[in-house]
Amino acid sequence: MLNLSKSLEAFNEAKTLMPGGVNSPVRSYRSVDCNPPFIARAEGDKIYDIDGNEYIDYVGSWGPMVVGHAHPQVVKALQEAATRGTSYGAPTVIESELAKLVQSVYPSMEMLRMVNSGTESTMSALRLARGYTGREKILKFIGCYHGHSDSLLVSAGSGMATFGVPSSPGVTKGTAADTITIPYNDEEAFKEIMDKCGDEIAAVIVEPVAGNMGCIPPKQGYLRLLRKLTEEHGTLLIFDEVMCGFRASLGGAQAAYGIVPDLTCLGKIIGGGLPVAAYGGKREIMSKVSPSGPVYQAGTLSGNPLAMTAGLETLKIITAEPEAGEPDYSRKLTLKTKKLLLGWQEKAREAGVSIQAHQAGSMFGIFFSEKEVYDYADAEAADQEAFKVWFKAMLEQGIYLAPSQFETLFMSGAHSEEDIDRTIEAAGRAFAAVAAL
Ligand code: PLP
Repeated sequence: MLNLSKSLEAFNEAKTLMPGGVNSPVRSYRSVDCNPPFIARAEGDKIYDIDGNEYIDYVGSWGPMVVGHAHPQVVKALQEAATRGTSYGAPTVIESELAKLVQSVYPSMEMLRMVNSGTESTMSALRLARGYTGREKILKFIGCYHGHSDSLLVSAGSGMATFGVPSSPGVTKGTAADTITIPYNDEEAFKEIMDKCGDEIAAVIVEPVAGNMGCIPPKQGYLRLLRKLTEEHGTLLIFDEVMCGFRASLGGAQAAYGIVPDLTCLGKIIGGGLPVAAYGGKREIMSKVSPSGPVYQAGTLSGNPLAMTAGLETLKIITAEPEAGEPDYSRKLTLKTKKLLLGWQEKAREAGVSIQAHQAGSMFGIFFSEKEVYDYADAEAADQEAFKVWFKAMLEQGIYLAPSQFETLFMSGAHSEEDIDRTIEAAGRAFAAVAAL
């Protein structure tokens, strides 16, 4: 049994100070009915708790730690940057350096604006879309998460393709009414709603590879349909690549599926573990953002020099030219992920447990389901009890996974073949525990 006594003590104290003892809900481990390890440090593919337990980490701070934790190149650059001051609230050259590097991989982002979180990037992109088109409605897909701004905390109302209702107290009915929600990966639902009111919709926002209902890639042709119908109706298409950016492929989902969105939201990775995100797109649209245009958006800490430094060093590592004959960084991650998932599938088969394994580049996950999983309803129908047992059995064996079936796992450059093999062996025992249910 893992000894988590110090973590439990720390959690009990934290609960007196912060709602649920955490600063972001999923960290509380509530959905897997146990208490979270409190983390002391991380290095490479390992994370260590305050009880001295070591884990192989497939959460990677929910995505950004693509080069592993405390990468020496990132740490050195940060140490040097810190001696020059931690914030100026004034323009710096490094902001343009990071913008240029992002743009070289995401050419659709002809101009971009740095912000501090994914929430800020999607909220700002939607305001821009509304300001640019002069329309008020937006459309999102059930199970796609775009941060916690009011217009995005919305559930489907009654009936298919209805105007939304608040999914959290504090969101006004008026705000929610401007958000339309439909199922993800459902071509007919999308055609129907665009037919009905496409001309009133400012923007369609989508996680082009969904990562917040577990990892669910788009069906073949689905993103192309979104692009076609949004273009026909003068609706902007926003790709929220906060999670799948630099993950689905180096150039994200837009490169992997060959679709050019009007606006893109990036986050996480472009800050290398420090708080950074960005939104950007067509020059004509981005020119409407203040101070060049009338759509207001600002941030005291936006473009913070430490955050820009961590992002720049991280992106330099993953965009570096590979040695002759070697696959590039992103391809290597994809291959390691494939190996891990094949191993898990084999172990699940041996244990007689049905799973659906999903991968998009270095994003991955499994569902305990006999049926294929294409949308939120399918994900919800998967066996959550089996997931809990599997999760706990993996944690006991030193494998740190996201504590919810509705999250995605991430591979990093620091994961060794040996650690992947260990993870496959651990999975065999965890599937046996599920089979014994
Ligand atoms: N968009 C997507 C696709 C995300 O996965 C997330 C967070 O996980 C966000 C937006 C919100 O980002 P943040 O938590 O940085 O506000």
